[in-house]
Amino acid sequence: MQPDTGTRDESPVAIEAAALPALFEALHGRGYTVVGPTVRDGAIVVAELASAAELPYGWGVDTEAGRYRLRVRDDTAAFGHSAGPQSWKSVLHPARARMWAADRHTGAPVAAEPDEPRRYALLGVRPCDLAAIGVLDRVLTGGRHADPIYAGRRDGNLVIAVECTEPGAACFCASMGTGPHAESGFDLAMTELVDDTGHRFLVRAGTPAGAEVLADLPRQPADEATVRHAATAVAEAATRMGRTLRTEGLPEMLAASRESPHWDDVASRCLTCGNCTMVCPTCFCTTTEDVTDLTGDHAERWRRWDSCYDLDFSYLHGGSVRVSGQSRYRQWISHKLGTWHEQFGSSGCVGCGRCIVWCPTGIDITREAEALFAWRDAIDAEEER
Ligand code: SF4
Ligand code: SF4
Repeated sequence: MQPDTGTRDESPVAIEAAALPALFEALHGRGYTVVGPTVRDGAIVVAELASAAELPYGWGVDTEAGRYRLRVRDDTAAFGHSAGPQSWKSVLHPARARMWAADRHTGAPVAAEPDEPRRYALLGVRPCDLAAIGVLDRVLTGGRHADPIYAGRRDGNLVIAVECTEPGAACFCASMGTGPHAESGFDLAMTELVDDTGHRFLVRAGTPAGAEVLADLPRQPADEATVRHAATAVAEAATRMGRTLRTEGLPEMLAASRESPHWDDVASRCLTCGNCTMVCPTCFCTTTEDVTDLTGDHAERWRRWDSCYDLDFSYLHGGSVRVSGQSRYRQWISHKLGTWHEQFGSSGCVGCGRCIVWCPTGIDITREAEALFAWRDAIDAEEER
């Protein structure tokens, strides 16, 4: 997001969907690489977009635990889908990055690997994912040692949020207080409206940079009916979330549930594949690996995403600390929903539902937490008797 100098007109305006090509022109004209949703490989993915025509007009998705399917909508909405397999993490904190390369013969000992100098416009960021970017900002740039790759990719972003009017069956951002309304963290926030009167967006600027882009688009002051329609659509989305998560007392419950038999129950279903950590927009762990070519003259060091489900993740001088599947699932959920608060000042979960949808066996973080609460509540009731 661009710096907020506090000077802007905050009145929302209406733009027609036909103005989206002008939005791309305004962004490209300012040197941004536009990244947004598009249909690829049977899913709605996040990718670099050359034009508005690549947006997923008329596509929706059906999701459930362990299930994701594209479906044709009966309208032309461009953002009528819930979270896909990727999040903005894939752009800002790439899955693989070369740290350096060295060549024995050229005498180039260690070459630092500069990231491509790009400024990204992130188009179509859902409020849950705005919150996830906020989490990554705190984790990767908020401490004494900022991650240079993330900082370089995040620097100068223009963030265009699209409020959620299409929650999926696995979504629970309303429980986490991260959506469906976009509160902050954006340069522009849009609400998509498609009805008998047409396909349009209610748009408000969050920063002067957003207001400047907005000023380049054909627009008109939003009438009261459009503002009310948008507010109602977003408020109704909060009531149509497919999941809820009880958050009160959650970190304490997890800390007190180490001996629950439910961990074995989850472990009997968990493949320790790590999919949930790969799709999670806030999981940030990485490992490094060194590779050489066959001659041994050229060496490279790569950083790649890692997962706490990997046996090697907890490997310490001769053995792994978390050997069993149950200990690895317990680590993941206890950190994500519990100790993350102490470490980073918020939950590590924004309620996007991706880990539920992309778990091959349909393990559901909300249901597992519910089962653990039930076990803990029964123990507490027993002790009080
Ligand atoms: S834990 Fe699951 S629901 Fe929560 S942010 Fe990560 S992927 Fe989304
Ligand atoms: S919870 Fe699901 S996605 Fe995560 S490691 Fe286990 S099987 Fe894989």
